[in-house]
Amino acid sequence: MTEPAAALLDVQGLVVEYGHGRELHRAVDDVSFRIPPGGSLAIVGESGSGKSTIARALVRLVRPATGSMTFDGVDLARLSPRELRPLRHRIQMVFQDPYGSLDPHLSAWQIVAEPLAVRGERSRQIRERRARELLDTVGLPASAVHRKPNEFSGGQRQRIGIARALAAEPDLLVCDEATSALDVSVQAQILEILSTLRRERGLTYLVISHNLGVVRAICDEVLVLRNGRIVEQGPAEDVLHHPRDEYTQRLRRSVLDPALITGRKPRDVVRHVAAARTAESVATA
Ligand code: ADP
Ligand code: MG
Repeated sequence: MTEPAAALLDVQGLVVEYGHGRELHRAVDDVSFRIPPGGSLAIVGESGSGKSTIARALVRLVRPATGSMTFDGVDLARLSPRELRPLRHRIQMVFQDPYGSLDPHLSAWQIVAEPLAVRGERSRQIRERRARELLDTVGLPASAVHRKPNEFSGGQRQRIGIARALAAEPDLLVCDEATSALDVSVQAQILEILSTLRRERGLTYLVISHNLGVVRAICDEVLVLRNGRIVEQGPAEDVLHHPRDEYTQRLRRSVLDPALITGRKPRDVVRHVAAARTAESVATA
């Protein structure tokens, strides 16, 4: 047997529980997956299926009951907070609501510059220059760098959230419903940015979404989660086009006309999903 290529992230037998005693709730139940460097895995599932809990375990906001989470050869589950610190910047999260996590008193460049300061960049000049570059990378105009979060639209705030994540120079970007709160045309723009970053910087993605259109646009592999357990797992093309499980079929029907995704390139999928959604909302208006 040939050895599989080393994974950047290798999660095996992950179990995460909330509460204790009779209140014990197993939110993630024996979940395993691997993401190679530069790869992109989607976790899909209905609300409450345990998707965010997996993300929280990875950044150790919750501690797994059992299982391993091997990141670049190190089991994150076993590290003490102190041992974890030097690794933290390598896994960055992009959340659904960036507003909640952006300090309202800071300007866009200051927000993006924060991780640079944390990583020891002492020159304000260099931090500001780097922050401006990152804001430019995510498509925000130079005129925006001094504005505060409340002066931006939801999509622009999400761009700031992505720029801040990039400032930490991560290897793995965990996007938890990062586009779910946005209008469809804005979703498409954010997905474009994420695919470009992946292509140009070799970033590795763990994408959590209930929208299979999003998944099809930026992921190679899909894992379907239900009540904390894996229902189905495989290449995105297979799972989205030929779902074996009834639950996956139902998820797919609820979010997307499969005709829209057949044989299209990611960029076109995004565009067609956006167009279809717009047509839908016009039709139902
Ligand atoms: P998803 O992201 O797929 O919607 P979550 O991972 O947020 O699902 O939640 C999975 C399950 O764990 C749900 O049943 C949820 O109610 C429960 N849960 C999530 N967070 C907590 C918590 N802090 N305490 C207790 N139960 C929780
Ligand atoms: Mg969630």
